[in-house]
Amino acid sequence: MKHSMKATISTPDTAKHRYTRMERVQLSKSAALRKDYMEHLPAWRRPTVGYMLSLPLVGLFLLLSMFIEQILSYVYFPGSLLIIAVLLSAFIWGVGPALFSLLLCLLALDYFLLPPVWHIDVVTLKGALQLVPFAISGLVIAIITAQRERARLEALAAEYEAKNIADALEESNQKLEESNTKLQEANQLKDRFLSMASHELKTPITTIRGQAQLLLRRLDKQHTAIPEVENTKKTLAKINEQTGRLNSLIDELMDVSRIRAGKMVLHTRNSDFVALCHEIVEDQRILSGRTITFTSEQPAITTTIDNDRMGQVVINLISNALKYSPPDSPVEVKVDTCGQNIFLHVTDHGKGIAQEQQQHIFETFYRTPDAESSAKGLGLGLAICKEIVERHNGRIWCESQPGMGSTFCVELPK
Ligand code: ADP
Repeated sequence: MKHSMKATISTPDTAKHRYTRMERVQLSKSAALRKDYMEHLPAWRRPTVGYMLSLPLVGLFLLLSMFIEQILSYVYFPGSLLIIAVLLSAFIWGVGPALFSLLLCLLALDYFLLPPVWHIDVVTLKGALQLVPFAISGLVIAIITAQRERARLEALAAEYEAKNIADALEESNQKLEESNTKLQEANQLKDRFLSMASHELKTPITTIRGQAQLLLRRLDKQHTAIPEVENTKKTLAKINEQTGRLNSLIDELMDVSRIRAGKMVLHTRNSDFVALCHEIVEDQRILSGRTITFTSEQPAITTTIDNDRMGQVVINLISNALKYSPPDSPVEVKVDTCGQNIFLHVTDHGKGIAQEQQQHIFETFYRTPDAESSAKGLGLGLAICKEIVERHNGRIWCESQPGMGSTFCVELPK
């Protein structure tokens, strides 16, 4: 209760305090701006010089007015020339000197120029009325000058603000560039590490796999039914399978490093695309034991491709189709042509891919949440396929609807 009372009492005070502080900041800002503006003026345009020169200036125009009155028989507006002194003061030195000049002019008008017959004196109302038009003109000049000065100060403030923003932008740009360079360096380091680690891992894994395969062949030749030998054969088969998986993962990592370093070289030659796909389909059918159908519009289509790399694409698409569809569902591979282009379609009857995920599946390391939970992989295969196909001046895309399976399509120029 005590606390809330305290809060109610102190709130208006705080608001007031804040308001005055804000006002003070604003005032000190405009004072600093004015000071800066004055400092940038040439010495002869400073107001102090204006105050000092106002007197001779008014004197000069007074003499001029008197001289004109001497040579002309009658002057309608005696002393109207004096307004030029006010004007000059205003334009050269600003409001303060302009008002000072106006005051001097009014005195000069009163004492030297207005007709003596009227006995005009500033202290009398009539005298004062005679001076009103001149005073109003002078004041108008002073007001216009004040507005000009204000506009100039505002422009200066805007210029400073823009300069501050530009400085801040430049600073953040520099920081961004620095962090960009650091990021690039870190990325290069990561790529170098990936490439080195893959190379270092590849040799021992190939050796282990080779030894396991050799032992497996030797045991197969012995035709013994000893349970221990059978168990060893099963273990060796597992080693063979797992090292095979490791090998293909390392191959994918090495391919990604090559792509990033721009070192993927294509060895193109004339090949029969139909024969290549047919051969791969047969291999995959034997290896997976699944139903994979193959149809081609033409018995042979000759085109210039890197056989190994394009084979890698076909293998990848078929093994993905097998991996992401139920084991008892078929996979269909179809090759056809349209105009000057060859098309490959690999269709499965799996879960399919949501529209928003389809645009990401060709990115490196991207995996759909479904794939993360159901199948192993690094999310590199399709990114490598895309690079290979594009290097052949072709394109690759996916047509899929959730629950309806997917078709991966490749288009290649003939
Ligand atoms: P990986 O299969 O190793 O995860 P890929 O680059 O081959 O990597 O595939 C990227 C992702 O695309 C996969 O993780 C999966 O989510 C999705 N994907 C690829 N092929 C299919 C397919 N036939 N059916 C459903 N999803 C697929």
